[in-house]
Amino acid sequence: MSECIFCKIANGEIPSKTLYEDELFRVILDLNPATRGHALILPKAHAASLYDLPDETAEAVLVLAKRMAQIMSDRLCCDGLNLIQNNGEAAGQTVSHFHLHMIPRYVNDGQTLGWVPGEATQEELEEIRREMTE
Ligand code: AMP
Ligand code: ZN
Repeated sequence: MSECIFCKIANGEIPSKTLYEDELFRVILDLNPATRGHALILPKAHAASLYDLPDETAEAVLVLAKRMAQIMSDRLCCDGLNLIQNNGEAAGQTVSHFHLHMIPRYVNDGQTLGWVPGEATQEELEEIRREMTE
């Protein structure tokens, strides 16, 4: 994965504003932050998306997110926090190296994240439940 920019950043070949680093991860500030303190958790080993992430990394990433969340709350005094993780172009993923967005939120920060709520009947929900479980 010699051309992957997040591999290069995660492994220190390209400088970044690093908030935290250990054997598995580097946490950096996003270059185009949605809000003040928007950070990305990058695994050092290349995995294109959640589908490719080893279980060990998948487990560790949320523990690290929790630790970073506390730092964001303590140091940035944010009022809330969104975790966002895009997989695939259709979902808005622009860099094909797994990353977890941590977006601190502030009252009246003017940022709009989210989705348009849809509608579904009980029958439709049941059909989906069957499709996914039977
Ligand atoms: P996604 O759309 O989920 O793939 O998010 C990619 C994120 O990476 C965006 O929020 C970009 O602003 C951010 N980004 C891209 N290149 C860099 C870079 N060199 N350093 C820091 N953040 C970056
Ligand atoms: Zn990579």
